[in-house]
Amino acid sequence: MQFPTKLFINGNLCDASDHKTVGVINPATEETLCEVASASAKDVDAAVAGGQRTFEDSWRDLPPGKRTEVMFSIARVLRENLEELAQLESQMIGKPISDARDEIGLGARTFEYYAGAISRFCGQTIPVARGGFDFTLRQPMGVVAAIVPWNFPFPIACWKVAPALAAGNCVVLKPARQSPLTALKLGELAAKAGLPPGALQVLAGAGSEMGDALVKHPQVRKISFTGSTSVGSHIMQLAARDIKRVSLELGGKSPNIIFADADLEKAAASSPMSVFANTGQDCCARSRVFVERPVYEKFVELFVQATRSIVVDDPAKPETQVGPLVSKQQRQSVEEFLETVKTPRHKVLCGGDRPSRKGCYLNPAVVLGCDTSDRIWREEVFGPVVCIRPFDDENAMLAEVNASPYGLSGSLWTNDLKRALRVARRVESGVLSVNSHSSVHVEAPFGGFKQSGLGRDLGMAAMEGYTELKNVYVAES
Ligand code: NDP
Repeated sequence: MQFPTKLFINGNLCDASDHKTVGVINPATEETLCEVASASAKDVDAAVAGGQRTFEDSWRDLPPGKRTEVMFSIARVLRENLEELAQLESQMIGKPISDARDEIGLGARTFEYYAGAISRFCGQTIPVARGGFDFTLRQPMGVVAAIVPWNFPFPIACWKVAPALAAGNCVVLKPARQSPLTALKLGELAAKAGLPPGALQVLAGAGSEMGDALVKHPQVRKISFTGSTSVGSHIMQLAARDIKRVSLELGGKSPNIIFADADLEKAAASSPMSVFANTGQDCCARSRVFVERPVYEKFVELFVQATRSIVVDDPAKPETQVGPLVSKQQRQSVEEFLETVKTPRHKVLCGGDRPSRKGCYLNPAVVLGCDTSDRIWREEVFGPVVCIRPFDDENAMLAEVNASPYGLSGSLWTNDLKRALRVARRVESGVLSVNSHSSVHVEAPFGGFKQSGLGRDLGMAAMEGYTELKNVYVAES
C-alpha cells in the first residue's frame, strides 16, 4: 500500500522546509507504517499565504452554483477512493475496518450535505423602524485553521473542511501526529476533484510547534478545534489576543440513564458499544451509567453478558468490533485509571486485562462500586472502561449527571414520554438521545455545553460559524 507522506501546500505535494519527518505507527502491530513530513512555522506561513491568495482571487467570489459543483465532485471522488481511505484510517489508528468504511462514507456524506446547503444558506430582510431596506449577509472569514484529533480523523476533518469551504473560506487542515494519512489524502483527492490550489492545505506536524504557529498566524481568522479540553483552553487563550473566532469540540463524560420502565433488553444490548466502540476513544462515550435501583442487578447482568460477546481482535478483520488503543501511551493512561479501582470497594466484573496478542489492546472493563468522587467516575478515561451505579431518586440522579464539568452527549432510556421530555430538558449536554445511542447526524448541530466546548460542528449551525454576519441598510429617500 502506498502511503501519503508529503505535505499538501498550494496544490503541491512537498517535504517540510526543514526536512523533518515523523513516524506513523500501526497500533495493531506496533510497527512503523511510514515517515511523514512534519511541517514547521515556515510551512505554516507558506500555507496561510497561499490560502489567503486563493480566498481573495477566486474561492470567495466563485458563484454559489460553481462551489456546489466542486463540493459534490469532492464527495464523488471520496466515494471512489473509499476503500483506500478506509484501509489508511484503519491501519494508522487501529480502527476496525468496517467502522472505517462507514466513517469514510460519513465524510463523503458531509461534503454532499454542505454542497446542498450552499443554495439554502440565506440572510434575512428586516423591517427596521425608520423604513428603507435592511438585509443581512453571511460573509466568509478568510483562512480557517482546522485542527483535528486522532480518534475519528477523517470524518472530523470533513466536518470542519466541508462547511468552511461551502461558506467560501480557505482551510489549513492540521491532523494529529498519530493520524496524518487520510487528511493528506483528502487534500490530494479534493484537488483532483477540482478544488483550486490553496483552498485546502494540509500540514502534518507537531501541535505544540506548528499548531501554535498556525493558531497565532495573523491571517488566520478562525480556529476550529477538536481535541482535549486542556489544548482547547490553550487555543482559546492564544486566540483571545487578536479576538479570533474559535469553535471547540472537547472532552466528555457522558451519562447513560436507564429508568426501570425502559426496554431493558434493548438498552442493555446496545449500551456496551455506546462506550466501547472505537475502543472507548470517543468524546461521546457513555462512560457513566446510571441505573434505577429496581432494575440495577438485571441490567448489570445483561450489560456484562453483551460486553463479553464483543469481538476484540485485529482491526483488519471484518467481524472485529473493538481494535487496539491508538498507542502504548494511551493504553498506559487507561491502565492507570484501572489501577485506582484495585480496592476492596470496587468490582471489575470483566475486562481491564490485555489480550495475549501483540498490539495496544485492552479488553473492555465494567466497573462497579464507584463513589462519585472517584477519578474514574469523574474524569474522561478515553479507553474501554465503563462505571455503573444505581440511583433511587430522579432529582438526585440529575444533580449527579450535571455535576460533571463536561456536557457533550448522553442517552436516556424510558417508555414514559413525559419523563423523557422532562429529563432531556434538564440534562446539561449539547446532544442527547432518547432510547438510542446516536449522537451524530450530519444535518443536526453537534457540540458541547460547559467544558465540552464552544460552537457547533455539523448542520447549518456549523456553516453559520464559518461566516461573519453583516447588516446592510439602504436608505430609500
Ligand atoms: P490533543 O488535544 O493534544 O490533540 C488534538 C489536536 O490538537 C492534535 O492535532 C494535536 O496535534 C493538536 N495540538 C496539540 N497541541 C496544540 C497546540 N498547542 N496548538 C495547536 N494544536 C495543538 O489530544 P491528545 O492527542 O494529546 O489526547 C490527549 C487526551 O485528549 C485524550 O486522552 C483524550 O482524553 C482527549 N481527546 C479528546 C478528543 C475529543 O474528541 N474530544 C480527541 C482526542 C483527544 P499533535 O497530535 O501534533 O500534538
